[in-house]
Amino acid sequence: MNISTDLFDQDPDMTEYAAFSHGLYIGGEWRPSSDGRVIEVVDPSTEAVIAAVPDATLADTTAAVEAATQAAAGWRETPPRKRSEILRRCFELMSERAETLAALISLENGKALRDARGEVAYAAEFFRWNAEEAVRISGEFGLAPSGTNRIVVDYQPIGICVLITPWNFPAAMATRKIAPALAAGCTVILKPASETPLTAYALAALYEEAGVPPGVVNVITTSNPGPVTAAMLADPRVRKLSFTGSTGVGRVLLAEAARHVISCSMELGGNAPFIVLDDADLEAALDGAMIAKMRNAGEACTAANRLYAQAGIHDAFVEGLRKRMAALTVGPGTDTETECGPMITRKAVDKIDRLVQDAVARGAKILCGGTIAEGRGFFYPPTVLSDVPADAAMAHEEIFGPVAPVSRFEQEAEVIAKANDTEYGLAAYIYTRDIAKGMRMASKIESGMIALNRGLMSDPAAPFGGVKQSGLGREGGQKHGIAEFMEAKYIAVTI
Ligand code: NAP
Repeated sequence: MNISTDLFDQDPDMTEYAAFSHGLYIGGEWRPSSDGRVIEVVDPSTEAVIAAVPDATLADTTAAVEAATQAAAGWRETPPRKRSEILRRCFELMSERAETLAALISLENGKALRDARGEVAYAAEFFRWNAEEAVRISGEFGLAPSGTNRIVVDYQPIGICVLITPWNFPAAMATRKIAPALAAGCTVILKPASETPLTAYALAALYEEAGVPPGVVNVITTSNPGPVTAAMLADPRVRKLSFTGSTGVGRVLLAEAARHVISCSMELGGNAPFIVLDDADLEAALDGAMIAKMRNAGEACTAANRLYAQAGIHDAFVEGLRKRMAALTVGPGTDTETECGPMITRKAVDKIDRLVQDAVARGAKILCGGTIAEGRGFFYPPTVLSDVPADAAMAHEEIFGPVAPVSRFEQEAEVIAKANDTEYGLAAYIYTRDIAKGMRMASKIESGMIALNRGLMSDPAAPFGGVKQSGLGREGGQKHGIAEFMEAKYIAVTI
């Protein structure tokens, strides 16, 4: 593997990390795929191949499950305080290496450096938070209603976990699973997305340095995710699947897991409404819209996918949004000036273009952007559409790009009905100066998370997750995230 970018030449840490992507990380060892095949990693800003990682076979997959099994007893018996200290060390090392990790994320994912820095801080925080949770796992003890015995409930690690993550947050989606799983006492096999494997491998090296024992975290990359995952789920030693990705793949995996009765946590797609009421603080709503829409250039499950502005504020909001979106600097993620990086693939650009063309054909107006520039890289310009009708495909599908479709509404009840007119229910945003009204609306919107007068809700200390087709279970939060990796054991005892 040759990585020949200035970034790697200038930063010795980066070269060191990149070297680790020579191997699948199994049982604390770096090894090639058993048939020698590789997956090429492409820089979305230039379309250049920047690295190649091993393409795991079914034999490699079995080896990863074997390694996680070998390490399981030792890790579950490691005292919580010791586990906590190792997790804390992961947080510290990630924080110390934040710039290097951000540059790596930016390189393979394309996101602007400032977004990548934000991701590293968020990702590291899952280790700090779960280091604190690891020593707070407690059980229950009480008298049975009959008075004949005591009820003792002990929370135990669920067992070997398969973790599957998407490309849009290569660090945070992995640490949001690994940190609570390790805190709970589980060993894991991580399968990161094929587009962004380098961050996952760089972090694996960092965990090892922090003291995570061999086999506790294993990382495999594959171009054959269906059969590889099916093989892991069919292995009776595997007890948990935690998946973050699209609803379509989530449905397939739920069906596969059902065949083996495996516990599932599912963080799936979204279609977030962003609602601006007449009484909103306009500047605050615009600030929030830019974050909710443009963090990661729109490639976020929580991204504002449909923007609804009430009639009295609509025109000012649309014009303010147009000005801000048109002023964004588009460029390679690794350029410090960049505010909007490329999309992950050409396919993603084509999908966004299809959605924009469909909306325009149904009557939407393009206020800025909307045309793909010629040249290398998977770029799509920041785009604002107004008068987007409810039957536009983008009102029902994730855009996953820098396109803000705005529609006008009159009444509170009308916008709640529109917000809920989707199979998804992950995130929603409301802007109003009337907090009571905002809380009333929040209770009626079918969504796992609501941001009230904020453009961002992600926080390791809060339960992240969706309702409806956006998922099952929660990540982060007090008890929620770690509970996904534990099982209650009830002991009836007469004393
Ligand atoms: P995706 O296509 O569903 O892929 C996600 C992961 O699943 C990747 O590692 C992928 O591997 C793997 N995969 C694909 N097909 C599989 C199969 N048949 N069996 C097992 N694994 C399979 O999603 P994506 O395009 O990477 O990510 C974008 C989606 O993730 C969006 O829908 C977004 O909303 C969602 N997301 C949700 C959250 C949340 O917290 N709710 C957070 C971030 C993203 P390959 O890369 O090899 O295909």
